Amino acid sequence: MRSFVHTAGPSRVIFGAGTLDRVREEAERLGGSRVMLLSGGSRALRKDTERLRGVLGELVTAEFAGAAMHTPVEVTEQALRLLRDRSVDCLVAIGGGSTTGLAKALAVRTDLPQVIVPTTYAGSEVTPVLGETVDGRKTTRSAPAILPETVVYDVELTLGLPVPATVTSGINALAHAVEALYSPDATPVTDAMAVEAVTAIGRALPALHDDPTDAEARAELLQAAWLAGMCLGAVGMGLHHKLCHTLGGAFGLPHAETHTVVLPHAMAYNAPAAPETMERVARALGVPDAPAGVFDLIHRVGGPTSLRELGLSESDLDRAAELATAQPYPNPRELTRTGVAGLLRNAWQGRRPEGPPDLRPLTEEVVASFAGCENPRLRQLLTDLARTLHGYTIRNDLTPQEWQFAIDFLTEAGHITTDTRQEFILLSDTLGVSSVVDALTNSRTPDTTSSAILGPFYVAGPPSAEHGSDIAGDFTGTPLWADIRVTDREGAPVPGAVVDVWQSNEEGFYDVQLPDLDGPVLRARFTTDEDGRFTFWSILPSEYPIPDDGPVGRMLSAVGRHPYRAPHVHFLIDAPGYQPLITQLFVRGGAYLDGAPGQRDAVFGVKDDLITDFVPRTGPTPDGRPVEGEWRLLEFTFHIARLGD
Ligand code: NAD
Repeated sequence: MRSFVHTAGPSRVIFGAGTLDRVREEAERLGGSRVMLLSGGSRALRKDTERLRGVLGELVTAEFAGAAMHTPVEVTEQALRLLRDRSVDCLVAIGGGSTTGLAKALAVRTDLPQVIVPTTYAGSEVTPVLGETVDGRKTTRSAPAILPETVVYDVELTLGLPVPATVTSGINALAHAVEALYSPDATPVTDAMAVEAVTAIGRALPALHDDPTDAEARAELLQAAWLAGMCLGAVGMGLHHKLCHTLGGAFGLPHAETHTVVLPHAMAYNAPAAPETMERVARALGVPDAPAGVFDLIHRVGGPTSLRELGLSESDLDRAAELATAQPYPNPRELTRTGVAGLLRNAWQGRRPEGPPDLRPLTEEVVASFAGCENPRLRQLLTDLARTLHGYTIRNDLTPQEWQFAIDFLTEAGHITTDTRQEFILLSDTLGVSSVVDALTNSRTPDTTSSAILGPFYVAGPPSAEHGSDIAGDFTGTPLWADIRVTDREGAPVPGAVVDVWQSNEEGFYDVQLPDLDGPVLRARFTTDEDGRFTFWSILPSEYPIPDDGPVGRMLSAVGRHPYRAPHVHFLIDAPGYQPLITQLFVRGGAYLDGAPGQRDAVFGVKDDLITDFVPRTGPTPDGRPVEGEWRLLEFTFHIARLGD
């Protein structure tokens, strides 16, 4: 279970095409009557800025078109003087993250409300974070006043964003989503937003590369940018953002382009420590490996792939690694200077991150090889087995040594297995598979006795025994009188049921484990009488270790598990016209019935309704047999189901 705190930013978001027309009413909703219109003065946005001025009409009291990259404080102060001169009461900004940055910088100094009209996919408009540069040094701060009150997304404003800027800005948004997924602050809400953003970006970018005027793809990407921005505003970012911050601040590299180059490499660095995130990203993009898939996406849409092409000098790489690791910050994988230097070198050279090869064609070829199998069940089982084993091997990046270890393990299990020692059943039992098969096969009706696993010590055809006979032979222990009935689901006796009983001795051994023993002991076959009943003498079973001198025992000790089974007696009941029942009765109060996972019964075999009183008694016994001291009484009725029930 994960604990989390989720704070939703109180922004109002207007999304659509032609929504620029609604900016005036949004400014007025915030009480604005003296608006300052902010822009970056770029030629590309001149027409849109003019339109916005028209929409705002006489509300426009001041205009500032000098927003610049990285929000230099001297620019903010210039705008601030104008703002005060004109008694501005509301800020309206149109442009990319740089213009949004200026609006935020003014808002944090004046507490004025903001209406932001974003024209890129940076996502800054929905975060309470402001990055500013003072004397060339970038500083970052966060405050509620920084978060814009209203965001008006107008898809039409993005139609003219050139493809290169679309790509880098879109990948900037992708970076917010990816780092949100492995952030320690992630919540189910940010997870959902991030996965949706990754999916949409993976779809929209290739579509826009092929047709930049595709309005649907523009809308999808802008919506993804909003979701990714929400992630950025809600949770802390890791190595990728830190690196981009460092490269932008210390070496003057362009913001979105740097994000684009670095993202696949930061992901490759973090992949071993964040496999779940990588799997989610890979699934969302429909690729086998997330870092390589992101690199391929950038390559496909013509984005920059090397720091070299962004103008970073090779001699700056070590310094960049030093700056990026100077102060600790949360990141899935531990940050080492040499590790980050290696990452930066790969990014500088533009090397594709090495993901595992795409092995799906191989798996599908193996699956297709079963197509000729005429038994559909066999075909289904083999198909799923191949898929599961291939998936297991790929997901765990199995090394040849590990694979050989598994082969040796199974070989040894085979060698140690004899007629009386079944290592594969032990393996199945200790991995819980036997209990899964049992649960799927049996115990499906509420009014029949629960089943339990067969275990490795059943021997077919045990010797028949008379009612009331003693099956303990020469073994000593606390005498046990068992009085057993077999009925149908309604309680009517089942006569003629053949019941095999077997159990361990007081030391925890079955007869088949004791080579010097003469003949079957503590195992017998009874047939129920007209009342569905039989009785016998035995001894109280004790807890015992499953044989742990083989590979299964080594597996248990490797994971800190004990090999003990809770004390029990086995029953296999077979009556004509009834479903066979294989089960065990556990001694209430016995060892290994309770405890943490791995500390209870070693084969996961205990079911609550099979825990039974083996009642301590002294004095006369039911059949008059003289017993010194304590003996135990087991009275139990098995309810079995008819065939076809
Ligand atoms: P930007 O705002 O600097 O814009 C890049 C260029 O694209 C500019 O010349 C701009 O005029 C032009 N442009 C913008 N929209 C256009 C359009 N629709 N059509 C044609 N041209 C257009 O770049 P950006 O990538 O949007 O933002 C980067 C800045 O935002 C950085 O300073 C970064 O630190 C900041 N940022 C901050 C946050 C935050 O949460 N604080 C988040 C993301 C980015």
